[in-house]
Amino acid sequence: MGRLKEEVGETAYRSWLRSMRLDRIENGEGVIAAPTRFLRNWVATHYADRLLALWRAENEAVTRVTIIVEPQIAACAAVQEGGEPMAAQPAFSEPGGLPDIADDRGHLSAPLDPRFTFENFIVGKPNELAHAAALRVAAACVAPVHTVPFNPLFLYGGVGLGKTHLMHAIAWHVRMQAPASKVIYLSAEKFMYQFIRALRFRSTMDFKDQFRSVDLLMIDDVQFISGKESTQEEFFHTFNALVDQNRQIVISADKSPSDLAGLEERMRSRLGWGLVADIHPTTYELRLGILQSKAEQGGLRLPQKVMEFLAHKIVSNVRELEGALNRITAQMQLVGREITLESAQDLLRDLLRANERRVTIDEIQRRVAEHFNIKMAEMMSSRRARVVARPRQVAMYLAKQLTSRSLPEIGRKFGGRDHTTVIHAVKKIEELSASDTALAEDVELLRRMLQS
Ligand code: ADP
Ligand code: MG
Repeated sequence: MGRLKEEVGETAYRSWLRSMRLDRIENGEGVIAAPTRFLRNWVATHYADRLLALWRAENEAVTRVTIIVEPQIAACAAVQEGGEPMAAQPAFSEPGGLPDIADDRGHLSAPLDPRFTFENFIVGKPNELAHAAALRVAAACVAPVHTVPFNPLFLYGGVGLGKTHLMHAIAWHVRMQAPASKVIYLSAEKFMYQFIRALRFRSTMDFKDQFRSVDLLMIDDVQFISGKESTQEEFFHTFNALVDQNRQIVISADKSPSDLAGLEERMRSRLGWGLVADIHPTTYELRLGILQSKAEQGGLRLPQKVMEFLAHKIVSNVRELEGALNRITAQMQLVGREITLESAQDLLRDLLRANERRVTIDEIQRRVAEHFNIKMAEMMSSRRARVVARPRQVAMYLAKQLTSRSLPEIGRKFGGRDHTTVIHAVKKIEELSASDTALAEDVELLRRMLQS
């Protein structure tokens, strides 16, 4: 074993070879036991030659090496190695293929981001329920008396609001407090991929076993398996088996179970059985809190004004907020100058623009029609009476100012008018605003309403 380790390196040794045990040496045959069929096949195809050569260098009497499967040695190994669970047990019996989704302990699970812990999660109104539920689940998983507070915990919310962060935080907590428990965290896409692979290699039994022996199963972004019937089927069975055995499941998606399209009805209702907790879009206070904490973590000193500005302007999601902070950090480190409000604005121009509220032409037409008390249909009609023509021009003007639509596109939205009509409307309103203060105020009011 020592020679093998030297030759293949620590990582490969730990992944593939460490759990092998010498069974016997008999009539020139060295017999080695592996804990799983997968490991047996893997070692046989990849290391058999070196194994024999190295062994012979130690003991010339060995002329052949045979590897057998002996499942119980995995358990022994775990005990011998201080309770470390099933060291390096790769996931699937795909001959000749690396298990590409394994955490650093060789479990079937995607790697966890070390920054995504509970300590690093800032709690605010929009995420307090999801956070509290995640904490409860994490605590229950490591409690001496096993309970399952809600099954499943279903977290949902828009992109970049902290779903993955919370799931990793649960996983970290459980791994730290109860290292022997088996935690699987996978994106729904990876789950699906593994399932399809298992089908191809006819190892669905292994697939099922992998999942059904788990203490905590977390599947991220399940919206990706909508419409994929066979995956859903498998997921459903796994899900039921785990719930029946009182194992905790955590699911995330971008929508609530009832709004997820392409999901079978029984799946939908089953997903809603436990606790459904949504993460709302961030508030100003939460964004500011996150900025302050991240800046502190990164040892970054930013003027309060700049932070407030960012929290005000970058409203889409936390990921973009972090992006903005990273860019500022890089700038400060590279240029070595303090950041001011102006330089921040300059640096983040594109991000800021993308975060401006997007106003649609429909919205403009609706608001303007309401304001001047005309029918929405009049926006599209060909009537030229001033009472409808003026509001229509105002709406065209605002569409030009507040959206990125081209003149022909705007014309089309107003009952298929020509782009020259739009140009005329824009000019007209500009001219009139200069002299007609009442109209100027109307336009300004509408602009502010539409942009807030
Ligand atoms: P989602 O999975 O919902 O799309 P993520 O969990 O990947 O979002 O979060 C995106 C980024 O924002 C991550 O870097 C995460 O750490 C950060 N983040 C989100 N919410 C918070 C929060 N409440 N406190 C601290 N960081 C957060
Ligand atoms: Mg995510």
